[in-house]
Amino acid sequence: MNLEKWIKRCDSLSKRTFIEEDGVKKYLFARLSGTSQANDIKKSAVVIDDFYRTKDNLKCKSGNPSELYKAAISDTGFDMPLWAYKSLNLPLQVCNMTFMPQTKTCNVYCPWCFVDDYNKNGRKEDGAYFSNKEVIDAFLDARKGLAKEMHVMRLSGGEPLLVPWQWLENLEELKRRGLSEDVYFQGETNLTTGSFIRQLQNEGRLDKNFWEKIAEYNNFGVLCSFKGTDWKSNLRAIGFSQKDGTVNPEYKFLDKERWNTFETMVKAGIDVYPFIYDPNPKTLKYFLEKGVKKFGEEFALKTWIIPLKIYEPIRNRLDKRGLQLEIFQKGLDENFKKSRGIMEKLIPKITGCGYKSIPRNEIILKVQ
Ligand code: SF4
Repeated sequence: MNLEKWIKRCDSLSKRTFIEEDGVKKYLFARLSGTSQANDIKKSAVVIDDFYRTKDNLKCKSGNPSELYKAAISDTGFDMPLWAYKSLNLPLQVCNMTFMPQTKTCNVYCPWCFVDDYNKNGRKEDGAYFSNKEVIDAFLDARKGLAKEMHVMRLSGGEPLLVPWQWLENLEELKRRGLSEDVYFQGETNLTTGSFIRQLQNEGRLDKNFWEKIAEYNNFGVLCSFKGTDWKSNLRAIGFSQKDGTVNPEYKFLDKERWNTFETMVKAGIDVYPFIYDPNPKTLKYFLEKGVKKFGEEFALKTWIIPLKIYEPIRNRLDKRGLQLEIFQKGLDENFKKSRGIMEKLIPKITGCGYKSIPRNEIILKVQ
């Protein structure tokens, strides 16, 4: 494997993930009902029409804004509602509920992925194709029937940037309908498609100002998954490793690819939110220093680590790989605990501010 082959692989997966009818792209989404992921979803989300789910990002019974804020910056919290409420200038409590379809293709194999392997395999099977107009119609229909307000949509996956057209079309369609100040669109990516996207642009298959056009929208932010903290831990985290943990150096280029993809977004001025999902405590400092050198101290301030837990699909996957669930979870927990301690010590040293002490939507990254 090398970068050239990787781009071809992304292209082939991309082509499976959309069809074009009368000049309109339709994207392949996973059917959620009846999957092992559905058992997890049941606990926290509501499936609508088999292909969409709604969920509260923050678990907070009172719905009180200060409690919500605390939940957002807790160890297990996601701060997406904070990105949305600042951008839309709405109360925090109405930015918690999110509408989510899932692209049915991914190009990597994170062992702890919350999606069934079936539901990210890039084959149509039980999936179905939807245009962005249909997705926004479904979002608007869903929110009509809710007791609470809903102002956030997240195109999840799989890897959504295998079909990058979707992002821009979604933002443009929201704007056409006068919803840019009412609906926040959260993107997400595993950062492995930057070169593939450049190739699409070079070949005239994607707008050459794709990234810059996205950056013009204030109702948009991207969850950027840095999986590991060095090339080896990254390959392990995205499933390019053997049972004994050894990795194939042929795939080392994916480390550079993730930094380059991230840099492209920062350069364009897109609001990016770096997360590390599977840190190696021994290389976390090196990772942060590398990011700071490229993007300033703000990179350290804006990077969060998130604990991983075992979801239903993970059991089956680990069984297949002959890995023991308890040992796997123990490793994740230990790494998170150590890494959390390192972040608490290191972030103030680098930035003069505490870890998670500043709302991330106030932190702007710039290429140095
Ligand atoms: S990037 Fe990893 S976590 Fe995300 S869908 Fe793909 S395999 Fe799952």
